[in-house]
Amino acid sequence: MQSVNTPNVTRTTCPYCGVGCGVAASVTAAGTVLTGDKLHPANFGHLCSKGAALAETLDHDGRLLHPLANGQRVSWDEALDQVAHGFGKVIAEHGPDAVAFYVSGQLLTEDYYVANKLMKGFIGSANIDTNSRLCMSSAVVAHKRAFGADVVPVCYEDIEAADLVVITGSNYAWAHPVLYQRLAAAKKARPDMRVVVIDPRRTPTCDIADLHLAIAPGSDACLFNGLLNFIRREDALDLAYVETHVEGFAAAFEAARAAGSIPKVAQVCGIPEAEVSEFFRLFARTERAVTIFSQGINQSSSGVDKGNAIINVHLATGRIGHPGMGPFSVTGQPNAMGGREVGGLANQLAAHLDFSDAASIELVARFWNAPRIAQAPGLKAVDLFQAIASGKIKAVWIMGTNPAVSMPDADRVRAALLDCELVVVSDCVQHTDTTACADILLPAAGWGEKDGTVTNSERRISRQRSLLAMAGEARPDWWIITQVAQRMGFADAFPYTRPAQIFREHASLSSFENSGTRAFDISALAELDDAEYDALQPVQWPVNRQAPQGTPRLFDDGHFYTPSGRARMVAVAPRLPAVAADKDFPLVLNTGRIRDQWHTMTRTGKVPRLNAQEAEPFVQMHASDAHVYQLQHGGLARLTSRNGAMLARVQVSEDQRPGSVFVPMHWNDAYARSARVDALVAPITDPISGQPESKHTPVRVEPYRPAWQGFVLSRTRLDFMDASYCACTQGAGHWRHELAGDGMPEEWRDWAQAALEDSGEWLEYRDVSMGRYRAASLRDGKLEAVFFIAADQRLPEREWLGTLFGKEQLESGEVAGLLAARPPNGPADVGRNVCACFNVGEKTILNAIHKKELNSIEAVGACLKAGTGCGSCVPEIRRILDRA
Ligand code: SF4
Repeated sequence: MQSVNTPNVTRTTCPYCGVGCGVAASVTAAGTVLTGDKLHPANFGHLCSKGAALAETLDHDGRLLHPLANGQRVSWDEALDQVAHGFGKVIAEHGPDAVAFYVSGQLLTEDYYVANKLMKGFIGSANIDTNSRLCMSSAVVAHKRAFGADVVPVCYEDIEAADLVVITGSNYAWAHPVLYQRLAAAKKARPDMRVVVIDPRRTPTCDIADLHLAIAPGSDACLFNGLLNFIRREDALDLAYVETHVEGFAAAFEAARAAGSIPKVAQVCGIPEAEVSEFFRLFARTERAVTIFSQGINQSSSGVDKGNAIINVHLATGRIGHPGMGPFSVTGQPNAMGGREVGGLANQLAAHLDFSDAASIELVARFWNAPRIAQAPGLKAVDLFQAIASGKIKAVWIMGTNPAVSMPDADRVRAALLDCELVVVSDCVQHTDTTACADILLPAAGWGEKDGTVTNSERRISRQRSLLAMAGEARPDWWIITQVAQRMGFADAFPYTRPAQIFREHASLSSFENSGTRAFDISALAELDDAEYDALQPVQWPVNRQAPQGTPRLFDDGHFYTPSGRARMVAVAPRLPAVAADKDFPLVLNTGRIRDQWHTMTRTGKVPRLNAQEAEPFVQMHASDAHVYQLQHGGLARLTSRNGAMLARVQVSEDQRPGSVFVPMHWNDAYARSARVDALVAPITDPISGQPESKHTPVRVEPYRPAWQGFVLSRTRLDFMDASYCACTQGAGHWRHELAGDGMPEEWRDWAQAALEDSGEWLEYRDVSMGRYRAASLRDGKLEAVFFIAADQRLPEREWLGTLFGKEQLESGEVAGLLAARPPNGPADVGRNVCACFNVGEKTILNAIHKKELNSIEAVGACLKAGTGCGSCVPEIRRILDRA
């Protein structure tokens, strides 16, 4: 066994995406130093921009440090008593289904296990669902239908070993950056490897694509059915494999026949025939093929069928269970997989058992000694919040997630929480859109403080280890849940004092009466003592007597977890998205991630260099749509759907397919006013998985023409309650506020000075005819704030002004240049930040390309270091090079 922690170095796991990168952490007197863990098999030392900035998120600024009840600080005992009493009272009066837990893929497996056991086993309701419902629940069902178990059959090495990698419904370069970098490196080493990207948008993932199919939104199942039909007609099936190891193939082929020939597929998918033909022929002739799929497939009203359409082509060709081949659902969150293992989804029970047969329920009840165990699935996320809105659920405990931002129909979710009788929120952050709705707030331990396990996209269990003392009175989630369970009268079943105990129980359940019929089996870890648990090395399940070192790849023997032992091909009849665009809502809204932010920005929003990539919520659209709807690049727009509205900055981009717009999912009330994109998304779900259709919302986009626009940079965050639009980001030593308003203040100076506690030495310029006002506040030569107001969006760049907040005293030339926002003789404006690792701006890169005649990524890297850190910005640098 490798050594776990060399002196002063703790090996742990990144808390962001499902790649599950290892992190090596040293805590010194000067602070915490984090690097990629060279020994971790997910990343071999690499980190992306978010992982590399983790150390900058560890301060206690913004942390929830003490239990609060109705806004008042209370002791842990009081808070826990109130939670237990509140839940107990609702259960006594209205029954167990009147309460719910809404948990998160950010929880560790041990936290998840205890929460699930309390709700399903002892409260006696299955009303516990996880935000992973929004991310990959369609893939879970697709796996179960095809393999008889929720199993990802491949491992990361398969991506590198493949000759063809198809990436569909995933901006892999930004959502799973280190895995993308592994693929990019493999393709560089083996130039014959082919990469096909299927996505309505041209994303940075296309940087390494040999072929990009910009299909019409929602046409994925038709494309893969067409491929299945093509494979059958071209005799590219593996008939021997199908006849021996697969069932349901005749019906699946028959259903695929309706997709028709290449011209028909091309017409439905809205792409040229030649592209469809090239993809089909490439897939048909390439034995080693991996198909990566993610939220673009899963977040659909037919996400399960889309997943099965993808799996079908792998089963039909026998491309599964061997190196370099297989369907690969990559998960969004760090522990979405761990949640699936313990039953974090309302329709699961625990240890990959569910409610489909009485024997499974009885087995878990016996193992837990839980006579009141739930007998039927609970409410899935969308239904759960609708039940809160209708008053059916009267008490909810939300752990480590922000549903007032991230759930579809977010305005109604927030209203439902505000009206709910009892809302308990455990979180490490004090002020989120969801904590604002809470009656009781419980401070949870954050990353770096927590201790337990997570499972990544390739089924690899890794340890998250604590390296820091817990902030304030924060406690681990498993401890908080255990304490409440004990107060509810279940002390015997919840005796936990440390995570290792919980993990052993979880591992024992995985093997309990498991005679090889359940894929999830980690029995080899059930006897770990505390020291061995502390030293646990990353390992892929199943890990049992047959495979004590774990299992990188499944199904190499062609045996599946269905009753017949055969995989199932599923007949897929492609369905269009539930609601089509129409004359009132003519554009299709797609939501997703950007490179440098994570979820609702509670952690990444603290890091200036990550905020520098995009300072505002934006809507990206094609120039033809911008022209039709009279929108200007850089102007503001109002987006409206049947469910809600938001404001965002317009980005015109040829990457966008005409008729579709893209808005990132991250912004929320903590960082911008009127910018929660999920307020627009309808609560329409896949009928089997319950996963919302977050990639296809018909919207209207109109110009928003405020009376004024402006920006303010200041040392502290300021409130501009009278602005109709306000987006705030934290820069180095300052806050940046992007503003717009409908009403003009009587006097700009009064307005600006009212925002500051002390206006200090005041510099000012105004041009009434042009509607311009500019001011700066200095104290003892140190810049406190700048205000730039204009009648439209024609405002100067912010970057140079932002650098002045790093100075104790401005030089006279800098003071002179303040209101012009131009350095006297200093460096030119650096432009928008492109490289987060080395803080290199777009204009710096462009200037260097022109002046030094740089003509390659390597040359830009050698000159500026840009792109030589995590590599996440390489696609963008390549595009700047192309443009230059
Ligand atoms: Fe973290 Fe980035 Fe690795 Fe994902 S790819 S686990 S965000 S370092």
